[in-house]
Amino acid sequence: MTELLANHVAGRWQTGSGAGSVLKDPVLGTALVRVDAGGLDLAAAFAFARETGGKALRALSYAQRAQLLAKVAAVLQSNRDAYYDISTANSGTVKNDTAVDVDGGIYTLSQYAKWGTALGSARHLSDGAAVALAKEGAFQSQHIQVPTQGVALFINAFNFPGWGLWEKAAPALLSGVPVIIKPATATAWLTQRMVKDVVDAGVLPPGALSIICGSSAGLLDQLQPMDVMSFTGSAETAATIRAHSAITRHSVRSNIEADSVNCALLLPGHAADSEVVQLLAREVAREMTVKSGQKCTAIRRVLVPQALYDSVAQAIGAQLAKVVVGNPRNEAVRMGSLVSREQYAVVQQGLAQLLQHTTALHDGRGKALLDADPAIAACAQPVLLGCQDPDATASVHDIEVFGPVAALMPYRNLEHALALAHRGQGSLAASIYGEAPDALAQAAIELAATHGRVHVVSSEVAKLHTGHGNVMPQSLHGGPGRAGGGAELGGLRVLDFYHRKAAIQAQPSVQQALDN
Ligand code: NAP
Repeated sequence: MTELLANHVAGRWQTGSGAGSVLKDPVLGTALVRVDAGGLDLAAAFAFARETGGKALRALSYAQRAQLLAKVAAVLQSNRDAYYDISTANSGTVKNDTAVDVDGGIYTLSQYAKWGTALGSARHLSDGAAVALAKEGAFQSQHIQVPTQGVALFINAFNFPGWGLWEKAAPALLSGVPVIIKPATATAWLTQRMVKDVVDAGVLPPGALSIICGSSAGLLDQLQPMDVMSFTGSAETAATIRAHSAITRHSVRSNIEADSVNCALLLPGHAADSEVVQLLAREVAREMTVKSGQKCTAIRRVLVPQALYDSVAQAIGAQLAKVVVGNPRNEAVRMGSLVSREQYAVVQQGLAQLLQHTTALHDGRGKALLDADPAIAACAQPVLLGCQDPDATASVHDIEVFGPVAALMPYRNLEHALALAHRGQGSLAASIYGEAPDALAQAAIELAATHGRVHVVSSEVAKLHTGHGNVMPQSLHGGPGRAGGGAELGGLRVLDFYHRKAAIQAQPSVQQALDN
């Protein structure tokens, strides 16, 4: 029998009472560990986090809590090798892809530690200046933000078991809000191990960080009005969560990061052999293959002028042809596996749906895997689809295949291109490729209406830009509409989510005393 990983709730490690779900190696098919949340006293778990963890965190200043984040980052850094091993085994990722998850999480924590230090010894935040409500300012209104006196419940997706926890926990803990994380079952091992290392190192107050692995049953029922909930996952689960009474009746503040059919747009007026066309082709291939395309921000639609359709298809295809897929333990492999055999089936199904209205411009599916058994491994080869009539083909704008798949589509003019981009109905990220600053800026403003982040690439930033799909803590992560309507990161902006805003109406001396 494999090890049953413990949950950490109410300040102690507790194993579930059931046999648990088995986590597998998606390349070898072997069983790794089990997780189970059966029999946990969830009410006690939430109460302990809220009361013990919340009080201890709120007693500290922002700068003191920032120091805690720095200590968490140091603990993770010192155990980094173990996280790489777990990622290889449980997520099937090559080292570069593991880095996005593990090192990305550590980097995000470190950034919030730095930004939080700058907030100093304060225990609440001022929001703007006081404004007069009476003559000569004898009675004023000042808005402040105080940490919410509840718990932050995080329900996460399988693709980022490391970063997915810390990009949420860093701002929550900095705000003084205790965290309960429920990782996706398929890859919960890395999250559990990271939390275990941090808890065992004793760097956070008891109750500040809890983890529940396994079923999500009953978690939302525990939410109370001052709690917050942040979900990352599919639009389908998001819809169920939105309908839960905690959200509909108790107004529990919720943040939803759901799926997204992101696009890359090559502006008109560039030659087939120009640098921006090459930049676009490389970025599309990279986005399709990093983490085997299992990135919520990955490019799914590629919009190019009609005249460049064939040459862009060839350029992307040439990049994809170099990608060796297989067992991530083999140094020659550039792309590992999908997260599970179940996801492999879901990806093949989505691909088949898209292929009903598109053609394969590059199809890696005939290629052999390196060091992996195609009957067992969840390794998917990249496929670039071509869609000649994107106006009439709804599926390419609607179906997110969460794997190494993207669709190329031609446009007639810029107006047409922008209209096609908007058909994603709200996405996390769009990238624009071109050279003229004014044209790039105008397109960026236009796409900002339906995208949380617009990534602009010209030859000037060819070697500097951070990548279409890389989520930087400095920038907003979230998108309107279909993307869930969420807002994470963006520096200190995200602290709004973990604070309550209030207007304090009082005489000037009281207003001044607020800052003491
Ligand atoms: P999922 O099936 O929706 O699961 C997400 C999480 O919700 C898991 O922890 C899951 O637990 C839990 N869950 C399932 N049913 C639930 C319910 N009824 N109530 C409460 N929680 C429930 O999504 P996934 O397959 O893990 O993730 C892939 C999707 O996430 C993709 O579509 C991708 O686009 C999206 N995604 C979005 C972002 C973003 O930032 N916008 C980032 C990453 C991924 P179990 O695992 O135990 O079932």
